Amino acid sequence: MIQFSYERATTTKAAVSALANNTSAKFIAGGTNLVDLMKRNVMAPTKLVDINAVPLKDIQQKNGKTIIGALALNSQVADDKMILEKHPLLSKALNAGASAQIRNMATVGGNIMQRTRCAYFYDTALPCNKRQPGSGCGALEGANRMHAIFGSSAQCIAVHPSDMCVALVALDATVVVAGPKGERRIPFGEFHRLPGDHPEKDNTLQSNELITAVEIPDNAFSKNTHYFKVRDRASYAFALISVAAALQMDGKVIKEARLAMGGVAHKPWRLLEAEKSLVGKEANEATFKQAAEIAMQGAKAYKNNAFKLKLGPNVIVEALKNAAGLV
Ligand code: SF4
Repeated sequence: MIQFSYERATTTKAAVSALANNTSAKFIAGGTNLVDLMKRNVMAPTKLVDINAVPLKDIQQKNGKTIIGALALNSQVADDKMILEKHPLLSKALNAGASAQIRNMATVGGNIMQRTRCAYFYDTALPCNKRQPGSGCGALEGANRMHAIFGSSAQCIAVHPSDMCVALVALDATVVVAGPKGERRIPFGEFHRLPGDHPEKDNTLQSNELITAVEIPDNAFSKNTHYFKVRDRASYAFALISVAAALQMDGKVIKEARLAMGGVAHKPWRLLEAEKSLVGKEANEATFKQAAEIAMQGAKAYKNNAFKLKLGPNVIVEALKNAAGLV
């Protein structure tokens, strides 16, 4: 049994102070991932700081940005009138994730912080560099059907499991964090990291920092967006591949584009070169196929996931066709 102390914080400052000088302490809110990890002995924090009473649930519009409190529930954000109006891509991605019950418990901050679902990471009898640095990567030569095709390393080929994060990286969001030295802002694309030689580190958050909000700058993508997720079951399954697509149209011509993939890398995978290729072109299948080809450049498969190299471009094309209203 894991022994840990438990404390409740009611302010951001108190929450951050409660973690001071204890790198093994963790924040807990919905607990939809952390509790599972503790039950399986994958994570063993010595202290849990319950942040549910910290007032970080609001969703507001301010200075050209939508600001979503880190403790807003996934279901609350997905159903929020302003989110549906201004950032429907985020709502679609959230509703594609987990189950209704989990979305009612899981917070925005927790969704960002959730850990990979690689089966080797969850089984303490098997080698996993992310769980136990230096023990090896069971997935590299093992069952790797769900694993990365971009940005992996010899140390880890896991993928980030979130749907919400794929939409947020496409929408140029920023993660706001509070720490002992005050507040800082991290562009969403720089928050999660690639595994490299340190797969134990999922992101660039310091151990004593708390995510307080996510900010999404105003954009002109509300009319033409789509989140397409391919998975093994129709519900409650992680993405084999997902694509978030947002277009700003001028008649039939694409004025601006945002494109990101999930289920393919250790972080939500933004497709900047493919986005550039779409700008100024007519929205049609040929344009989308070309963008998909660009997006898949550099993809590398392992023993069980070569199907992702064929699936990827098809999912990109379908997401873009839906976003453009061609289907
Ligand atoms: Fe662990 Fe990463 Fe390898 Fe999975 S892919 S076994 S998480 S090191």
